[in-house]
Amino acid sequence: MASGLTCGTIFPVIPDSHTHTCFSFDSQALPEEVCRAAGARGMREVALTDHVDLNPLDGGYGYFRPEEHWSGLQDCRARLNGRVRVHIGLECGEPHLFRQELSAITAAHEYDVILGSIHWVGNRPVETAAFFDGLDFRAGIVLYLDELARLAEEGDYDILAHLDIIRRAVFHRYGWTELDWTPYEARMRRVLRIVAERGKALEVNTSYRRRGMGPPGPSVQVLRWFREEGGRFVTLGSDAHRPEDVGADFGEALDMVRAAGFESIAVFRRRTPYRIPI
Ligand SMILES: [Zn+2]
Ligand SMILES: [Zn+2]
Repeated sequence: MASGLTCGTIFPVIPDSHTHTCFSFDSQALPEEVCRAAGARGMREVALTDHVDLNPLDGGYGYFRPEEHWSGLQDCRARLNGRVRVHIGLECGEPHLFRQELSAITAAHEYDVILGSIHWVGNRPVETAAFFDGLDFRAGIVLYLDELARLAEEGDYDILAHLDIIRRAVFHRYGWTELDWTPYEARMRRVLRIVAERGKALEVNTSYRRRGMGPPGPSVQVLRWFREEGGRFVTLGSDAHRPEDVGADFGEALDMVRAAGFESIAVFRRRTPYRIPI
């Protein structure tokens, strides 16, 4: 019997498609350090996806300077000299609400990847307990999912980032580290169907683990729904704001993607997805 006599499973090193540098208002990380951290973990490519916060409510509003950002990351690329392939990306909060402003930025340079994120629903911040002020749990979740559907449908993005970021508000309000989406299956599937039909990617975000908020998300169940709705592209994102967090908990995330039946992970170059077999 040959089984058990193999030389070990070969694990592909999956690129991190969601990281931040000091071009984001909430990170001090030098771009080169983020890229070197990716290289040290065996990644051949990494996406730097700094915040573009066009929502005046957001703490990062007004911070992003497109030209400084672009030239700074081009310098980083040059210094890395091909040792790690640097993808220049952006993470835009509520891109469906700021379409013109975002397209003015993305038209100016050849970005590799745009992450679409919900950070606010109206004036409710999705990362704090205050999200649920004046709302019961179900009403809050429905409000979130309906905004997510609008982003999925109307936003310009390649990857829908942290699909279940409302878990942060749930954690702070209720102390729960997991969320059962079964009661909201129809609404969630609608979001996933839109992402799939538009040929966009879904991110598995590992930052919950580092924050003590439970496993990477979305759950295997939600990833299965995505596949059933025709989803083809899944990316991994640490959402690192420090070099040491690049690629954190990717082993666990990879197991989840496999358990959901996917056979590849996607990475974007020049806004085009490529798939890495897993
Ligand atoms: Zn985000
Ligand atoms: Zn982020």
